[in-house]
Amino acid sequence: MAGEPQDDCLFCKIAEGHIPATIVRETGTTVAFRDINPQAPTHVLVIPKVHYENAAELAAAEPAIAADVLREAKSVAEEDKLESYRIVFNTGSGAGQTVWHAHAHVLGGRGLHWPPG
Ligand code: C5P
Repeated sequence: MAGEPQDDCLFCKIAEGHIPATIVRETGTTVAFRDINPQAPTHVLVIPKVHYENAAELAAAEPAIAADVLREAKSVAEEDKLESYRIVFNTGSGAGQTVWHAHAHVLGGRGLHWPPG
């Protein structure tokens, strides 16, 4: 069923506590944890506990939870005292998506170039 945990999904397993991660925040609907391969001094992933393949599918099915993800991204930035930061949703393999569970990258703590690579 849409949104249900998937047995083969790494981020579902992190959300359920079955795979360890450095969790920095958790709410009823979201988990935020440090990326295992950080690309900036702050690199945190915010995921919904429900399983959708990407952020657009999450927003279409569960708009309130998509908003929770954005609110949590802001809270992560505040906790790490970031004046500027970037929220990234890689969507599709051509854009660098490798995990098929919606997630926001929160990046900051260094200068971030534009356009991104
Ligand atoms: O946008 P993309 O799908 O590529 O992002 C997946 C992210 O998940 C990567 O930045 C990767 O380093 C991170 N990851 C993680 N912990 C894991 C596996 C992947 O933080 N166990």
